Amino acid sequence: MSTQPAETRPKVVGVLALQGGFAAHSRILRRLGAEPREVRVPSDLEGLDALIIPGGESTVMTLGVEREGLAGPLRDLVRTGTPVLGTCAGMIMLDRDHLDLLDVGTRRNAFGRQLHSFEADLDIAGVEGGPVHAVFIRAPWVAELGPGVQILASVDGHPVAIRENNVLAVSFHPELAGETRLHELLLAGNGLWRHG
Ligand code: GLN
Repeated sequence: MSTQPAETRPKVVGVLALQGGFAAHSRILRRLGAEPREVRVPSDLEGLDALIIPGGESTVMTLGVEREGLAGPLRDLVRTGTPVLGTCAGMIMLDRDHLDLLDVGTRRNAFGRQLHSFEADLDIAGVEGGPVHAVFIRAPWVAELGPGVQILASVDGHPVAIRENNVLAVSFHPELAGETRLHELLLAGNGLWRHG
């Protein structure tokens, strides 16, 4: 049996699939020629080239992570440099109070009751080709951040797109607007980032 060389095989991208909007991310990954893999138990993390933590409900996702014993294996994967994209609840899951993979504190549902949902065109540092159409749904913002965290975009002075080393997190849903550039950055790994 011959194995394909690493350069030509599709990248295998895990999408945490305990709860929330994982299916839309898988569709985008397939469109970009990658192979999505739904992650529900630790063995699903083996051999991943990248990982997405989708939006949803961070409290429910946290219970699922605890139930399945995923916290340690997720931390190991990310701390060894695997590129990660977290969106909305995914950003919350990565913060200091959850998986502690981003040196940030997030504020949940930060944009207030009147503003459960809104859309905005955002210029994001490192993303070329014009503004990103961003869909915010009961979105968090970054309330505190450590010195190693870069702010890539803000709304009303509050960071909504950040990066620390191999971890990229946005408080909106790129996958609901047909936006693929953040997924492309994830697939390119860290080489594409010119702002590091
Ligand atoms: N409000 C949700 C939470 O606190 C996040 C919303 C989302 O992912 N769209 O987890």
